[in-house]
Amino acid sequence: MSSDEGYAIAVIGGATAGAEAAGVFSEHGVLTVVFEQNTRPYGKVEDGLPRWHAALRNKEYAAIDRKLTSPNVHYVPSTTVGEHVGLEELTGEWGFHAVVLANGAWRDRPLPVEGADALLGKGFAYQNAFIYWFNHYNEAAYDGEQYEILDGTLVVGGGLASIDVAKVIQLELCVRALAERGIEADLVETEVAGIPKTLQKLGLTWEELGVEGCTICYRRRPEDMPLVELPDDANDKVRERVARGRARILEKATEKYLFKVEALRAPSGLIVEDDRLAGLVCDVTKVEDGRARPTGETVELRAPMVISSIGSVPAPIAGVRMKGELYGFDDWDLGRMNEHPSLFGVGNVVTGKGNIVASRKHARSVATRITADHLELVRKVKKLEPLDDATRGELLRRVREQHERSGYSGDYAAWIDAATPDDRV
Ligand SMILES: Cc1cc2nc3c(=O)[nH]c(=O)nc-3n(C[C@H](O)[C@H](O)[C@H](O)COP(=O)(O)OP(=O)(O)OC[C@H]3O[C@@H](n4cnc5c(N)ncnc54)[C@H](O)[C@@H]3O)c2cc1C
Repeated sequence: MSSDEGYAIAVIGGATAGAEAAGVFSEHGVLTVVFEQNTRPYGKVEDGLPRWHAALRNKEYAAIDRKLTSPNVHYVPSTTVGEHVGLEELTGEWGFHAVVLANGAWRDRPLPVEGADALLGKGFAYQNAFIYWFNHYNEAAYDGEQYEILDGTLVVGGGLASIDVAKVIQLELCVRALAERGIEADLVETEVAGIPKTLQKLGLTWEELGVEGCTICYRRRPEDMPLVELPDDANDKVRERVARGRARILEKATEKYLFKVEALRAPSGLIVEDDRLAGLVCDVTKVEDGRARPTGETVELRAPMVISSIGSVPAPIAGVRMKGELYGFDDWDLGRMNEHPSLFGVGNVVTGKGNIVASRKHARSVATRITADHLELVRKVKKLEPLDDATRGELLRRVREQHERSGYSGDYAAWIDAATPDDRV
């Protein structure tokens, strides 16, 4: 490995992508400071993936821990960039040779129906906060938003995350209906076995439970759902295969968790009763050239609760240019903007969607390019000299200042231990 000692890089976000980038910089001897807004650095792995993914989460936690404790990596928890530290301070004042955005996509894309957001908490919810609640509500210290699982809930969206939201509702409804019959069922075990098999073992059926269940409402056809990625250069044969794969994934999920799907329905209006969302008016659509087009007909989908799961976008950070709901990157491979030559983006913050492997791969590839090309450029043009002792000392003083504010002693393992409630699964 080449040594880039004397260089310093800030990483914003310590989860899959941020930790991966930090690991690469550490291999190159770069002084790396990872700013993480939460106490624990696990991001979507902890708060986005539904909690039944226990084995995957533990594996990812261990990988993140290993990278954040690599040589030359300084973890700065409970520090929100844009609030405790400004982005411009990092790009301009601290002495960093590059700053890497690895802050993920934590804002739900707004449901494009006027007035919906005013009904949040009144029959309307978004996916990110809902899954956060699901993952943590069993903890005694949880004091966040509370959600009641209502039979007949409508989930808007068509990705894997919407299926997860539908699964949460179905599993909660199933466990609750069994509890009402005096049967204690474990939600995670029910997820593994599926609802029909769980009920079969108990000599019951879904119909006997008297549960209606939830419905996913999607604006295109099942075979259009982005459940399997379509390669950019796909020919007709590949398109057909992908379409079949998508339809099959959805079919398997509906067989195993018994939720329903209303395809070709695009929300266009709200049904409001007693100041509460009571369902959606939807345009009936048809798919033309891959797009959902209204047919002119509408239907009412009544529901006691609507959860919007139509994608996540990065939260704005002062100093980062937006283009619509996304960051205004000019180079989408490296997550770069023309006006910020030393700013890069990795993982979900750039890709928006994706998965753990995609976030990790993207982070490794960009971080490798930073060490190979960007630091080399910095060296050549000498716009930024390697850190001298005074600048390094000042940078580390600022890191200590943030540590003092957050109460972090520098002992990563002890911090994580203290930040983990005993009853966290
Ligand atoms: C419901 C759901 C189910 C999923 N299921 C799977 C699955 O089964 N398998 C799979 O591979 N993937 C799954 N994914 C996707 C996967 O979780 C993500 O693609 C991946 O974890 C993203 O990693 P990341 O590091 O890019 O972003 P994140 O994990 O979002 O990390 C961003 C980090 O930045 C921090 N941060 C944000 N803003 C700031 C700031 N201003 N200052 C400092 N820190 C900040 C956050 O706290 C967070 O720790 C799922 C996602 C969802 C929503």
